[in-house]
Amino acid sequence: SASSADQPTSSGEGVENLVIIGSGPAGYTAAIYAARANLKPVVFEGYQVGGVPGGQLMTTTEVENFPGFPDGITGPDLMDRMRRQAERWGAELYQEDVEFIDVNNSPFTIQSSDRKVKCHSIIVATGATARRLNLPREDEFWSRGISACAICDGASPLFKGQVLAVVGGGDTATEEAIYLTKYARHVHLLVRRDQMRASKAMQDRVVDNPNITVHFNTETLDVVSNTKGQMSGILIKKHDTGEESVLEAKGLFYGIGHSPNSQLLEGQVDLDDSGYILVKDGNAKTSVEGVFAAGDVQDHEWRQAVTAAGSGCIAALSVERYLVSNN
Ligand code: FAD
Repeated sequence: SASSADQPTSSGEGVENLVIIGSGPAGYTAAIYAARANLKPVVFEGYQVGGVPGGQLMTTTEVENFPGFPDGITGPDLMDRMRRQAERWGAELYQEDVEFIDVNNSPFTIQSSDRKVKCHSIIVATGATARRLNLPREDEFWSRGISACAICDGASPLFKGQVLAVVGGGDTATEEAIYLTKYARHVHLLVRRDQMRASKAMQDRVVDNPNITVHFNTETLDVVSNTKGQMSGILIKKHDTGEESVLEAKGLFYGIGHSPNSQLLEGQVDLDDSGYILVKDGNAKTSVEGVFAAGDVQDHEWRQAVTAAGSGCIAALSVERYLVSNN
């Protein structure tokens, strides 16, 4: 049987109350709440699978929209503060990747690179990873012309006043294209299909914007460089005519979506068609009792630090209730 919230240590036979997987805003917020509820959560922060300890915000500079920081805060600083808050209340943190989970048998089993842990409940907060096109020269130009985040990099001197391109046809790509017109001289939107998937409102905004040119039926094949080795254009191919050409551009932004880091749960909890963990509306419960999910791994829509943190809170409070009622 599960231990209750008033039994501070892990229950008998070395079975932990709660294991949290992931150290983004969702994982650390869950850890803060669970630790304050005396659940002594064990947190696997990750090492290199599906991101870095601290999650996606470790790869950005200023975060300007997290409440409580009126002058902004850097992503790494924000995550360090969350980590310290979790540690202060007694969360047990391991910088290790979880490699295997078994939630078919109770207590659950979690195997990391360094240890095996048995537990009564799990919060999966493994986040998501921005999808890449895997172009031949992608690694060469990553962060030197190719970016996965317009909001993060659009204002950089590398791109300011330049012709830029965004690849994708959904809401992310159209939002990025509109956002980039604030800084760029002109923006090309490269859409693979003959239409956009974005909402009608977003499509209209893109089409009506004189600083955006939409290219339909267009495959992005590679980036090309000038004699100085700088990115100077994009090799594209028109599906309808088969014609290849080079589009002048100093930057290429990926707006082709995110992949949830849910591989560990495949075949064990219900996922949607894109691999996001399915949770009950407004709740953190997955299809397996005792297994909860929070943050970007279950959210294909909002994907913000504050929404991830909010869902981490809900997950931890749900675990507390679950352990009490299953004692
Ligand atoms: P993540 O932050 O993705 O963290 C997931 C964690 O899980 C990581 O620590 C990873 O190491 C760990 N993990 C994955 N697999 C395993 C495993 N097998 N074992 C152990 N650990 C594992 N949002 C904002 O609100 N404001 C911004 O300004 C902003 N800027 C952004 C800039 C960039 C460049 C990016 C990429 C995103 C930005 N976002 C921003 C979005 C925000 O970062 C995410 O919504 C948020 O980080 C999601 O939090 P999360 O806790 O769900 O997961």
